[in-house]
Amino acid sequence: ECMAGHLPTRLKGLDEALCGGIPFGVLTELVGPAGIGKTQFCLKLSLLASMPANCGGLDGRVIYIDVESKFRSKRLIEIGINSFPEIFLKKGMAQEMAGRILILRPTSLSEFAESLHQIKVSLLQQQVKLLIIDSMAALVLGERDCGASRQQALGWHVSFIKSLAEFSRIPVVLTNQVRSQIGDESRMYSFQAQSRSIIKDNPATYDSHLVAALGINWAHAVTIRLVLEARSGQRFIKLAKSPISPALAFPFKITSSGMVL
Ligand code: ATP
Ligand code: MG
Repeated sequence: ECMAGHLPTRLKGLDEALCGGIPFGVLTELVGPAGIGKTQFCLKLSLLASMPANCGGLDGRVIYIDVESKFRSKRLIEIGINSFPEIFLKKGMAQEMAGRILILRPTSLSEFAESLHQIKVSLLQQQVKLLIIDSMAALVLGERDCGASRQQALGWHVSFIKSLAEFSRIPVVLTNQVRSQIGDESRMYSFQAQSRSIIKDNPATYDSHLVAALGINWAHAVTIRLVLEARSGQRFIKLAKSPISPALAFPFKITSSGMVL
């Protein structure tokens, strides 16, 4: 039942549950409150995708859509040096690895789509092995127009991102911030009234502001959903949606080496 091609996260239990890592060709969503570690995880994935194949990387380039200007190349190199010193301490390698990550900062979804249209043809030739959108909700909320036309545009953009993943057969990782701890009863109640289908499909992993931002169909567009949360001082990464695995949670920490189990 495993899908073809994965980017290993090096988080052991998670990779096993995911049949090898973040799958190629589909959307993987990271959901969690501010400061929980979504961007830290994206930085680690970027390193793993750009590292040489003989070190377990994908030896590719990364397109990193940095919507809120939260990408820090200094932090990227710090994680690289501490996690993979044998590679990153070689002369010039840190710069080379960082240089494989193309940072884009579109100010709207339409600007983003336009730049991806331009890149689309060269996605394969350029050896792009990972697309990150940090964050999807922030990108959508940058759009000026709202209401029905926005919902329509949103549907189109989501289909476009999905088709990019399928066409280029690379992992596409998107983040979304939730305002409060997920699973809060009162929030879930008001949300339930809005969308019974998503609740049924995916209980206690979605909140109303995300649905408001991303539309009702969003939850169905992603194949893998990883929920990052903190409970009694411990952070967990939970596999909340997967076609192959039951819901599993793994404790993690963020250290100078980035996200570790
Ligand atoms: P947001 O939704 O606001 O973008 P996020 O989920 O992306 O939040 P991150 O920026 O990935 O959050 O994580 C920030 C957290 O990472 C910090 O609160 C801190 O705990 C941890 N962190 C960042 N740098 C280091 C470091 N050098 N050493 C240890 N922990 C760090
Ligand atoms: Mg972030």
